[in-house]
Amino acid sequence: MAIDFITREKFQEFIKLISESAIDKFTPSKFAKYADININDSFKLLMEHVATKELEISWELRCPNCSRALSLNNNKDFEEYECDFCYETFDVDENDLFPKFKITDKYKEYLISSRNDGHSEKKFKKTVTNIPDEKIPMSDIMIDEQTKEILLDTDCPIILNIFQGDNYVNQNSNSFNNSNISNTNIQSNNNQCQTVPNEHIEELEDYITNLDDVTLKKMNENYLTDLKSSLAENDKEKAKDILAFMGRTLGSIASLTTIGGYLN
Ligand SMILES: [Zn+2]
Repeated sequence: MAIDFITREKFQEFIKLISESAIDKFTPSKFAKYADININDSFKLLMEHVATKELEISWELRCPNCSRALSLNNNKDFEEYECDFCYETFDVDENDLFPKFKITDKYKEYLISSRNDGHSEKKFKKTVTNIPDEKIPMSDIMIDEQTKEILLDTDCPIILNIFQGDNYVNQNSNSFNNSNISNTNIQSNNNQCQTVPNEHIEELEDYITNLDDVTLKKMNENYLTDLKSSLAENDKEKAKDILAFMGRTLGSIASLTTIGGYLN
């Protein structure tokens, strides 16, 4: 799915709401849920705003042994990083890094000063405080070359260490033959993308596109968007719920049954 103008407008609204709230940092999953887009598109769009200095990215490091959040100390050895809590050492990779975004001081200042200029009506009427921040590691986010460049430009040593050069295989390119990444890691990422083969999603999409009832069509287009993002996030339970909603409005059509089979 491409990032369209509606998503961009939702971003402006979202950022305004964040700047008016007590929220300091937010995850890409929060914006994905707000705008009904998948995590990859959310990360891409947020990184575009890092490039234009409206947002800044920061990293939460979680110990793979005790799962506690550590402050990222760039002076430590990334290959033998010692946990502040359990004292286990681990090799930091993209499974341990969780991105968060925050509005830059300058942009926040601008947003606050332009709050009463008549452009602040809330079109999408959602509150940001109720959307949970879901912890999604970098390994579960697909990034394209353009986003990767912005990421490398943020000048964070550990990010350069992990994402620069051949260490990082761009998951979009499907070139899974890099020996620097463990096979188990690749397999799990691969499985997540393939929970349901795309052809069945496309079949369902076709069915919805050809519906005559406008309301039914609109409703199921929204369900389909949610279904795609829950599959992208590998949230099978949510995907099953959405399928059930669709089943109630569409009846037991073949593609729904097939997709349901992949989720069990
Ligand atoms: Zn630990």
